[in-house]
Amino acid sequence: MRTQLKSLFCLIMLTVPFSLTSQQNQTSPVTLVKIGDNLYETRGGSGANGGVFIGDYGVLLIDTKMNQVSVDQVLNEVRKLTDKPVKFMVNTHSDGDHVAGNKFLPESVIIVAHENCRKEFFHPGRNGEASAWNDPSLAKYVPSATFDTKMDLYVDPKKVELLYFGTGHTTGDIAVYFADQKIAFIGDQVFKGRVQLIHSYKGGNSFKHVETLEKMLASIDAEKFYSGHSEALTREDIIAHIKEMKEFQAKVSGLVKKNYSLDKIKNEFNKDQANLVETVYNEITAVR
Ligand SMILES: [Zn+2]
Repeated sequence: MRTQLKSLFCLIMLTVPFSLTSQQNQTSPVTLVKIGDNLYETRGGSGANGGVFIGDYGVLLIDTKMNQVSVDQVLNEVRKLTDKPVKFMVNTHSDGDHVAGNKFLPESVIIVAHENCRKEFFHPGRNGEASAWNDPSLAKYVPSATFDTKMDLYVDPKKVELLYFGTGHTTGDIAVYFADQKIAFIGDQVFKGRVQLIHSYKGGNSFKHVETLEKMLASIDAEKFYSGHSEALTREDIIAHIKEMKEFQAKVSGLVKKNYSLDKIKNEFNKDQANLVETVYNEITAVR
C-alpha cells in the first residue's frame, strides 16, 4: 500500500509540472495539416500552431516555432511539398511562442508584422526584465516590414491580406486572411476551451479585445479561424467567446460596485480565471 501511494505521488509530481508547461515541453514533431488550397496549419514542435501558404511564386509562413529543431522541421516539411522559396514570415503578434523561432529562419525571409508588434519585441517582459531582442545581433530577425491597418502580400496571384482591428490580447495582433478560402489565422486572439490571455503588461486590454473581435467579424467573411492554441474556430465560436467575455466583465464590474476587494472577487471565479479577473479589475478601477 505504502509503495503504491509512493508511486502514485511520484506519478502526480511527474504529471503536474508537465501539464503546466506542456506548451514549452511539447516535443511531438512538426506536421503540416492541410486545411485549404495550398494552405496548411503547422502543428506540434515547440511553440504555437501557425500556418504555411504555398503560392505560385513562393511560400508564406505564419508564426515561427520556438527553437532551431522545430523551425528546421517546419522548413523540412515545406521542402517535401515545394522547392519554391520561403519569401515571408508573418508574425501574428509578439509572444515568444510565435516569434522566438524568427532567429532560426534564413536571413532572406522577410519578417512582417503589425507596427505595434514590432515595438513589443523590445518591450520588457512580464516581470520587467529586458527583452532579449535588444541584442543587436538579433536585429535582422525582428520584423522588417510593418503596417498600420492593412497590408497585402503576394506570393500568388491571389493576395494574402494582413488586417489589424485594434488592441486586445496585445496591442499588435493581426488576422492573416485568405479571402477566397474564407480562412483567417488569428494567433492568440481567441482560445477555445481555455481562459483567454490578455497581456496587460504589453498594453493588451480585455474591453478593447471585445471591440476588436466585433470589428473583425464585421469586416471579414472568414468561416474558419485558426488559433495558436486550439482547434479551428467558427464565427459562432467567436460570437460565443465575445458573449462570455462580456458576461465575465459584467460579473467583475458588479462585484467592484459592491466594493469587493480583488482577492474576494477572485474567490467568485475559478482559479484558472484569476489572471483575467485581475486584468479586468485593473481596467475597471483604472477608469473610475
Ligand atoms: Zn501563443
